[in-house]
Amino acid sequence: MKTPYYLIDEKALLKNMKKIAFLRDNCGAKFLLALKCFSTWAVFDLMKKYMDGSTSSSLYEAKLGAEKFGKEVCSYSVAYSKEDIDSLKGFADKIIFNSISQLERFYKDVKEASLGLRVNPSISYSHFDLADPARKFCRLGERDIKKVKDILPKINGIMLHYNCENDDFKVFSRQLDFISKKYGSILKELDWVSLGGGIYFTKDNYPLEDFCKKIKEFKNKFDIEVYFEPGEAAITNSAHLITTVLDIVKNVKNIAVVDASIEAHCLDLLTYRISAKLDEKIAAQSNGYEYIIAGNSCLAGDIFGKFNLAKKLKIGDKIAFADTAGYTMVKKNWFNGVKMPSIAIKRLNGKIETVKTFDYEDFKNALS
Ligand SMILES: *Cc1c(COP(=O)(O)O)cnc(C)c1O
Repeated sequence: MKTPYYLIDEKALLKNMKKIAFLRDNCGAKFLLALKCFSTWAVFDLMKKYMDGSTSSSLYEAKLGAEKFGKEVCSYSVAYSKEDIDSLKGFADKIIFNSISQLERFYKDVKEASLGLRVNPSISYSHFDLADPARKFCRLGERDIKKVKDILPKINGIMLHYNCENDDFKVFSRQLDFISKKYGSILKELDWVSLGGGIYFTKDNYPLEDFCKKIKEFKNKFDIEVYFEPGEAAITNSAHLITTVLDIVKNVKNIAVVDASIEAHCLDLLTYRISAKLDEKIAAQSNGYEYIIAGNSCLAGDIFGKFNLAKKLKIGDKIAFADTAGYTMVKKNWFNGVKMPSIAIKRLNGKIETVKTFDYEDFKNALS
């Protein structure tokens, strides 16, 4: 197969899906895929067997959810336009507003849907300021409980999204106690609450049973339907970006240039200043050969990372970067006009299917 390409492994995906299915069955909560993290719909037929629907951050994502994922379609947006609302009201099961002013403005248009309001609990778990909804002057969600109480007759639920890669069950558990206390009187009046995304329950050794027990208690206490909106946790470790070494240059250190770009094809890593992860197979156990692996755009900092490899690299070698599904594929862009990775899927039966290729016409048509 011609590089570069993203390769999604359905078997790896299934491992995450089975954990989500376990949670669904054992705690009675519902799980919606957050499309902003992952919207490669060629694997939605597999995912939708294990999840309850999708959630979105824009009209287009909501449409994609309705068209390709099916089941429950939940819509959220930081700010809807009138046109968004007119399109959404035909097919969105849930419409969640970010502010009371948006709710008031569009209430009469959408009151047939199940309506929600994002509430910001002012607590969070995140390693990154960029993704922290508890940051100063944050625009995400309503904070004033009194104001929420005043509009309660207009809504059926609330959404709280306050985690990012939270793999610590104890922290989650404490957060939930805080939320129960702070919003208990509101929750009792509502049909549903979404606890958002960012909980890393598919990580090895996450205490799934304790999690279920906690959610069941919460659900029963407030007699409420509980939703989660996993993005990263649903697709973690299920894709690679496969590249080929095009050149090896030396500037004090050895630098291998591959036929992909971190700026164009793994932008999330660059934004958060995280190194790419290599497929373990080529990494050295100890010592090894040190390489900087860099991209083929003209950006000086287009660097995937510094790695110790088990053997010397040569031109033509394949390099696979691991964990490139979430927030990676959705952000690919045409910077520098470098070749866009194709998308391939390794199906459950082991067959590899190329589901998308890009060419010069796609680059040209991305602008005019
Ligand atoms: C980003 C986001 C999610 C998904 O978050 P992950 O960290 O990928 O699980 C879910 N809900 C909302 C409202 C979001 O903004």
